[in-house]
Amino acid sequence: MKPVLVVGASVGGSIAACTLRELGVEVVLLERDLNYVKPCGGAVPPLVFSEYHLPESLIDRKVTLAVVASPRQAAEFPVASSHPSDRDFIAMVRREKFDRFIRQRAVQLGATLIEGKFTGMDVTADGVRVTWEDKQRRIQTLDVCAVIGADGAYSAVAKALGLERLPMAVAYQERIRLPEQVMHYWEQRAALYLGDDVSPDLYAWVFPKYDHVAAGIGAGAGKTQQARALLNNLKQRLKDQLGQGESILFEAHHLPMHPRKHLSYERVALIGDAAGLVQATSGEGIYWAMKSGEMAARAIAANLDTPSAAHLRREYDAAWWKRYRPTYTFLQILQRISYNGDIQREIFAAMCQDRDVQRLTFDSYLAKHIEPAPWSIQMKITVHWLATAAREVAAHRFGLPRRPTPQPSRL
Ligand SMILES: Cc1cc2nc3c(=O)[nH]c(=O)nc-3n(C[C@H](O)[C@H](O)[C@H](O)COP(=O)(O)OP(=O)(O)OC[C@H]3O[C@@H](n4cnc5c(N)ncnc54)[C@H](O)[C@@H]3O)c2cc1C
Repeated sequence: MKPVLVVGASVGGSIAACTLRELGVEVVLLERDLNYVKPCGGAVPPLVFSEYHLPESLIDRKVTLAVVASPRQAAEFPVASSHPSDRDFIAMVRREKFDRFIRQRAVQLGATLIEGKFTGMDVTADGVRVTWEDKQRRIQTLDVCAVIGADGAYSAVAKALGLERLPMAVAYQERIRLPEQVMHYWEQRAALYLGDDVSPDLYAWVFPKYDHVAAGIGAGAGKTQQARALLNNLKQRLKDQLGQGESILFEAHHLPMHPRKHLSYERVALIGDAAGLVQATSGEGIYWAMKSGEMAARAIAANLDTPSAAHLRREYDAAWWKRYRPTYTFLQILQRISYNGDIQREIFAAMCQDRDVQRLTFDSYLAKHIEPAPWSIQMKITVHWLATAAREVAAHRFGLPRRPTPQPSRL
């Protein structure tokens, strides 16, 4: 049996390779640059560690306090689900450490890791002939039975299938080393900032790493040129909390903002960013790349004789959307109604002060599953939302006074 080729040895590709090896399938894992570090905030739900048996030594920080701040108000609340446990935290990882560990595990399980760049493929009835470029820029060929495209937002595998680029947002991030007492403030906090000054249509963030913070901004399609100015505005807004820091790295990358219509094609499956599986509201993509890598690998392993588009769409695409469509749909709607405009952002920040909203947010984030809340809670949240919206619209349109609003805790 020919091997399966996984293109891209980041989080999604490496989990796909591990899964295939665990199922006894031969795997070649092709990575363009083994020293590459994916620009990333590195926030993952703790579920990742139990589901994929990863050691917690990969965690830099356990965030237990969340901050959501609009220009006028801030909600600061504990990371707590409806059933509090010691798993109620957001894990902060550094991709340079996290990705390397999973890739190494794939190799230990028997995957053949090659450093080289995928350049094209020819899909035939009995396999796929892949061309790739080695480090000496020589073109090589490889015959495989199927391909998993785990090669990120600019996927060359998707391009070889004739697919168009997905709509992209840009994410631009600076890593900042802070004096000890300022770092202490961030150790357990992750903060999201809303407002035209820091992000016209998404949000900005500060996430703690082991000895520094990552401060970044996300901005929708066509706003790449504004990224640096938006990040400067964020640092200006947070001059007390970030002002005395030493900049150690700038990093930027695009993020797909919409899933592809199909995840599977004849003998090919796309996963993670290559498939557009990032969550629109949060830009969260690590868990989704890993999970889609696992599910695509299982579907291919079950259909090694004929990994046809029809088989893969039934066992990967359909299974994926059956499980996760409500999550993607809900978060897409949330992004549209929460980030685009001053009034919407103020309503969003105000609603983040609602205990039920906080609990439901962490229930779904930590379990990666959306459960409809009981009717009574839904009614309570709806009434609260309507009252907040009416108050914000009245304040904005007619200049009516607002209630005093909470401010974030200071250093
Ligand atoms: C600034 C920023 C902050 C983010 N913060 C978070 C966060 O806090 N939490 C979160 O969950 N998500 C975050 N994301 C999203 C997350 O980084 C991605 O969703 C995730 O990395 C996708 O994983 P992936 O395996 O699909 O692809 P990627 O991680 O993009 O990896 C693709 C791999 O393919 C390789 N490759 C590309 N082309 C080729 C080729 N032709 N041949 C061979 N190899 C190739 C690349 O070198 C790379 O190793 C952030 C993204 C950005 C840009």
